[in-house]
Amino acid sequence: MKIEKLRKQKEFLETLMDNLETKMFVFNEDMEVQELNKSSEKMIALDLNDIYGKKCGDLLQCANAIEENKRCGETSKCHKCHLRNSVYDSIFKDSHTNKKILSREDYVCGIKEEKFFLYSSKKIAYGNQDMSLVLIDDITEIEKSRKKLHQLSITDELTGVYNRRFIFESIRKEISRSERTGGIYSLMLIDIDFFKKVNDLCGHVEGDAVLKTIASEIKNNIRDMDLFGRFGGEEFILLLPETDLKLAFLCAERLRKAIENISFSKVDHPVTVSIGVGQYFKGEALDDILDRVDKALYKAKKNGRNRVEVAENAKALQDS
Ligand code: GH3
Ligand code: MG
Ligand code: MG
Repeated sequence: MKIEKLRKQKEFLETLMDNLETKMFVFNEDMEVQELNKSSEKMIALDLNDIYGKKCGDLLQCANAIEENKRCGETSKCHKCHLRNSVYDSIFKDSHTNKKILSREDYVCGIKEEKFFLYSSKKIAYGNQDMSLVLIDDITEIEKSRKKLHQLSITDELTGVYNRRFIFESIRKEISRSERTGGIYSLMLIDIDFFKKVNDLCGHVEGDAVLKTIASEIKNNIRDMDLFGRFGGEEFILLLPETDLKLAFLCAERLRKAIENISFSKVDHPVTVSIGVGQYFKGEALDDILDRVDKALYKAKKNGRNRVEVAENAKALQDS
């Protein structure tokens, strides 16, 4: 009777494990597979008979192992592997990992793919040894859609650069960062000159093309750390971290000249921009620096366009 009950329990457990969508592995401290369920077998390129005792990265076709032509555990990046470290920590430090996102690159049918997993690890007694039970859910599709949606939510549809909402969010973060660290940054407003004329003479479609070209010209002429976006209409905003006014002015001049030199096949005159530039001062509100830079832009327009004007010094304004 007791044996019958145990047999039923074993059968039930096996059915349960085989029907779980979640992938289940038992790894020893060397990342060698000791146990796995049916769902995990789908992740693995090897024949079932070859799986037991094989190392995790060799089963999953880890890109690091393949590209360095080394075994799992021997590559230069293995010490940074989150899965390996979580298995080690669960066995030796009794510290569990609970539903963390893991991003890794594996080869699937010979093609490198970025995969995202949600994984947990926990120490278990397997036979008379401490091992790690690892549960993995493949969330690659969800994570890729989430990233795509996020990208769309921060991007201006026409020009492909950051949108106003994201730029404002970033500037606010930059302000609080520089309040803490004392870091400096500068801000630029860039407005296309007589853009209405481009639309009127060449049509709205060509106007759109001009906007796109100017946005990508600016993007190609700034550093990776700079944040560039569409402020609205034919106006752009550029945030230059760790840049004082002198350097920001030189950058603005470089951009102005680069844009002046673009030749548009369907526009019979040079398209130029006017730029206002200012440096942020500690304690200044976002609206205040924007106001100063906007006034500098207005001055550039008033003084003939296709030029750069520097914002009045906030401190000097305060002192006067
Ligand atoms: P200024 O030198 O004083 O800046 O003159 P401007 O003509 O550039 O300025 P104004 O504000 O009079 O006109 C801006 C024009 O930009 C009007 C508007 O139709 C155009 N514009 C704004 N957004 C877009 C867009 O997405 N596509 C196109 N094609 N035109 C746009
Ligand atoms: Mg304009
Ligand atoms: Mg404008």
